[in-house]
Amino acid sequence: MNSSISERILSIRSSLPTSVKLIAVSKQVSAQAIRSAYSAGIRDFAESRIQEAASKQAELQDLPDITWHFIGHLQSNKAKKAIEQFPWIHSVDNLKLAQRLDQLAQQLGVSPQVCLQVKILPDPNKSGWSVSELLADLPTLDQYKSLQIQGLMTIPPSGLNDPEILNVFNLNRELAKKIQEQNWSHIKMQHLSMGMSGDYELAVQAGATMVRLGTILFGDRS
Ligand SMILES: *Cc1c(COP(=O)(O)O)cnc(C)c1O
Repeated sequence: MNSSISERILSIRSSLPTSVKLIAVSKQVSAQAIRSAYSAGIRDFAESRIQEAASKQAELQDLPDITWHFIGHLQSNKAKKAIEQFPWIHSVDNLKLAQRLDQLAQQLGVSPQVCLQVKILPDPNKSGWSVSELLADLPTLDQYKSLQIQGLMTIPPSGLNDPEILNVFNLNRELAKKIQEQNWSHIKMQHLSMGMSGDYELAVQAGATMVRLGTILFGDRS
């Protein structure tokens, strides 16, 4: 099992451009499996539940150079824990949450790196800004100086074929470029967090800088 995790990591890592960060999604994965991935060179891990992450982070405290990424829907009563436990939050999905995170970050004296989660196509099953909502909220987001807004995260709706998925990822890249060209004083658009086990090759083709891979590294979560 452990050797297969490392084999999968090495093979996927070597298929990715070196500029693309490989984030191992370790939700529902044991601390031991995380250690195997760590041994194979992974230093970025993502979790989608605060509570579940906390116990694994405690178990893995002897691996101090792990960077933890939060990728789940974040309720505002968990915002403080999220900021304390995660230097990266990919799933900032509405203005109210962004404001709360900014306030908390200021109080805690930290400046988390965040991605804004955007729905390139309408999707009732996901949270996130629509494109027009996001564009309208940028002036406010630009004032949240304790957040380091680094880019956009997107997940295509399910049921799309490959060309449609590629199109979503391309549109996300173009949206980030458009925002970058508006020259905000604080918002940066250097990162595109896109691509999961089933579609990361398309995401990389479209310019992803971070892919979030779970199943393809660790096997089915069942
Ligand atoms: C679970 C999850 C992933 C990883 O999905 P896989 O299909 O297992 O690679 C990536 N991103 C988010 C936001 C997730 O919730």
